[in-house]
Amino acid sequence: SYVLGIETSCDDTGIAIVDTTGRVHANVLESQQQFHTRYGGIIPPRAQDLHRARIENAYERCLEQAQLQPEQLEAIAVTTRPGLPLSLIVGLRFARHLARREHKPLLPVHHMEAHALQVRMEQLTEIGYPYLCLLISGGHCQLAVVQGPGRLTLLGETLDDAPGEAFDKIARRLRLYVLPQYRLWNGGRAVEHAAQTARQPAAYEFPLPLSRQRDCNFSFAGIKNNSFRAIRKQELAERTPPDGIISNYDDFCAGLLRAVSRHLMHRTQRALEYCLQQGLFDAAPPTLVISGGVANNDVIFANLAHLAAQYNCRAFRPSKRYCSDNGVMIAWHGIEQLLQNGQYSLRRDIDCIDIAGSAGFQHTAVND
Ligand code: ATP
Ligand code: FE
Repeated sequence: SYVLGIETSCDDTGIAIVDTTGRVHANVLESQQQFHTRYGGIIPPRAQDLHRARIENAYERCLEQAQLQPEQLEAIAVTTRPGLPLSLIVGLRFARHLARREHKPLLPVHHMEAHALQVRMEQLTEIGYPYLCLLISGGHCQLAVVQGPGRLTLLGETLDDAPGEAFDKIARRLRLYVLPQYRLWNGGRAVEHAAQTARQPAAYEFPLPLSRQRDCNFSFAGIKNNSFRAIRKQELAERTPPDGIISNYDDFCAGLLRAVSRHLMHRTQRALEYCLQQGLFDAAPPTLVISGGVANNDVIFANLAHLAAQYNCRAFRPSKRYCSDNGVMIAWHGIEQLLQNGQYSLRRDIDCIDIAGSAGFQHTAVND
């Protein structure tokens, strides 16, 4: 059976159709990045207008790509939280309208859960539950044990910024966008690319955050503030003009990437040890999944995979096109709901869902 997925939680309008075997029949993704980068961030009413202007057409193109009629769909999955309320409401209203018109059930989807389950779509035979998942994105940093849709246990999360957010803010402060090749890139991707040309990659060092905290939480505010200070210092030393960029920006990016990577590894190591000690992996091969936009980063992924290997644990991430926001992961979460012993909750009206609520995961304390 086919499920249509609708994603409008932030600044991407994504609609896709996926079947129970994980085959993608259509994938339409309209990014708004070029409209928002100019203003240095997302303006919610503007994002809402763009979603509204594009959603109907994205849906039509989706059916056309898949060569399907609406009546062939089993259900309509839609992101209900977390995200920008003004953006979420556009997808939600459209999904409700479709469900009524086509007499299809609605499947509410938690956006972070969709990031966490997406990897199974492409590796269904390889990746069984449970697994440890590190969610690293523009709005979140979470370590969770994943047992199925609606069954995530949070081991830790960021106390302040998310890693993607830190990359974006620091890249903007550094003014990486003045370099033509990075003008339209997100901060994380630009930092990763710039770091490759570093000639003195050890020139910038940052202290390891929460190094003494015996839990699985994260903090990126320290790295961010230290970055702002280091950039300012270098700008003064070099007399960089107000719209210019420091000469050794690539060395700086290498140091930043290493700092973020080390922190992610340090906390993930604790979570891995906790999971092994709890016998969590007794029933399944030990598996670490890395997901969310920052999982695109090859350096971060390679470091985490190396760490996992030291615990005889396999590491996976979704294909790059599915790491960042898209409709496919929402449709796949809908499929996972259908697959879960057929015990999914079909709802014709999801007005009652609290779209402003954040991650609804169950918490576990991992202090030992
Ligand atoms: P959330 O899922 O928490 O609501 P989001 O949906 O905005 O946030 P994603 O689309 O999953 O986030 O990811 C976007 C983030 O990923 C951006 O902050 C961007 O900087 C980061 N990112 C993308 N590519 C890379 C990369 N190669 N290296 C590091 N970070 C990256
Ligand atoms: Fe996301």
